[in-house]
Amino acid sequence: MKHYDEQTWSLYINERLLPNEISEMELHLYRCNDCLTRYMICMEQMALTLPTMEIDERTYVDAVLTRTLGTKRSWYHSTMLHYGIAAAATLILVATGFFHGLSQELGPQGALQPAPPSAIKIDQPISDQLLNKTLTWLDTLQNK
Ligand SMILES: [Zn+2]
Repeated sequence: MKHYDEQTWSLYINERLLPNEISEMELHLYRCNDCLTRYMICMEQMALTLPTMEIDERTYVDAVLTRTLGTKRSWYHSTMLHYGIAAAATLILVATGFFHGLSQELGPQGALQPAPPSAIKIDQPISDQLLNKTLTWLDTLQNK
């Protein structure tokens, strides 16, 4: 199987690739946990470098939500988009301490600390739970 490096995932996140490359990579993301991990790390690094995040996180999150809720058709037509947004939202919410209470419920293992990207531990059960939590949260917003 052909894999993609972090640089390519950055291009992917910035949509600096041809449409057919983007869809190929989307498909690959479904099947490859290694690349999903690289993708998540890239997202995290992007989130850290985005100036808007430093200025006003709430505005940024609101903008993302407004955009997603405003394009319901493509939202429903793209599970991958749904997943990508949920992953991004998860990272943002983790970064803003949204899951702090949840982490405490999960015990010491789930106590997520802000860490440099190289030290990010993709702890499968915990991240799955966080992601599911975010998906549920997004679904709730969607159904309002
Ligand atoms: Zn791969």
